[in-house]
Amino acid sequence: MPNRREFMATSAVLAAASQLAPHACAGAAKKKKLGYALVGLGRLSTNQLAPALQKTSDSELVGIVTGSPDKAEQWQAKYGISKDNTYNYRNFDQIADNPDIDVIYVVLPNSMHQEFTIRAANAGKHVLCEKPMAITSQEARTMIEACDNAKVKLAIGYRCQFEPHNLECMRIAREEEFGPLKYIDAGFGFRFGDYPWGDLRRWRLEQEYAGGAALMDVGVYALQACRYLTGQEPLSVMAREIKNDPVKFAEVDETILWSMDFPNGVVANCSTTYGFSGVNVATAYAERGKFGLSPAFSYGGIKAFAGDRPIELPNVDQFALEMDDFSKVIKTDGKSKVSGEEGLRDMLVMEAIYKSVRDGSQVDVAHA
Ligand code: NAD
Repeated sequence: MPNRREFMATSAVLAAASQLAPHACAGAAKKKKLGYALVGLGRLSTNQLAPALQKTSDSELVGIVTGSPDKAEQWQAKYGISKDNTYNYRNFDQIADNPDIDVIYVVLPNSMHQEFTIRAANAGKHVLCEKPMAITSQEARTMIEACDNAKVKLAIGYRCQFEPHNLECMRIAREEEFGPLKYIDAGFGFRFGDYPWGDLRRWRLEQEYAGGAALMDVGVYALQACRYLTGQEPLSVMAREIKNDPVKFAEVDETILWSMDFPNGVVANCSTTYGFSGVNVATAYAERGKFGLSPAFSYGGIKAFAGDRPIELPNVDQFALEMDDFSKVIKTDGKSKVSGEEGLRDMLVMEAIYKSVRDGSQVDVAHA
């Protein structure tokens, strides 16, 4: 992980490199399956993304980027990845010369999203970047600019926007099946284990690497739900933090409660936590009834209801759908519904939430 000074130096190099703006991988549109390279082989890549890429119709796992030679060997053997399609963080930029790889999927700690998105764009590759998009809105803007300049697509890993129960709730809200929406109650959180932090790596508790904890990691799902259920951008937020463990959460947020006012009069009440388990819900209250999701944001087992009936829909591999959607966007030269701009809008709301926590007052949300 670069320190601030190294990072600024890297940024200058990246800015200079962007002047060279190579052409995006031209052959992608003709391929049946676009070639994906996963950058960062941690928990998400290992347990979700690589297995999902065995089920995709328009996307396939062809490359890896890792700092660990041992992991590289294991992944090469398990997924039949060639040595030529295996990179580390230093020689990553040579990926520009590799026609097998069309899409770089950035699955690194949050503070590295900007650097690797820009390097991927400068290598002429399309970029799928995990959430949260970055650690500041300014970083998010530079990522969008770099991808625009390089004429490559950028999407953010908002898997729930491909999940059938979530989609059905969006439809119910849009079509006002229960009348106009009035109020939303949404939350996502879990208990972050004690030292040695269970399976999760320590970077999530370090401000420099994570940019924030519960809100940036899982609160963003509740925020997304409010935005995609209302179809609107919040005007203002009011937030407060509860910190029960000031040692573990010395640098980052533990539990945040916040409310948001939307232009159509909807009010949302949201929560996120690293302090306790079981918060995983989105309930929408409309004039004549309620509908919603619980669990709302898990990888599987999503359940939803509309009034007094359960919504019966299949559980799917959200990551497979997310990647195939991005491949189709690339092949048809379209725009992803989970574009970089969508990620930026969340970053702006989260910055307003952190400001409200600091100032103890209502904060207007800046708009993209
Ligand atoms: P992880 O800690 O398990 O993996 C991070 C990977 O980055 C590891 O392979 C690690 O070796 C590598 N890395 C490279 N340089 C590093 C450095 N300087 N410090 C620490 N690690 C470094 O994390 P993860 O759970 O795989 O999360 C990765 C990203 O994916 C995060 O942005 C996270 O928010 C996101 N994520 C999204 C979902 C989702 O449902 N969409 C779920 C989990 C994580």
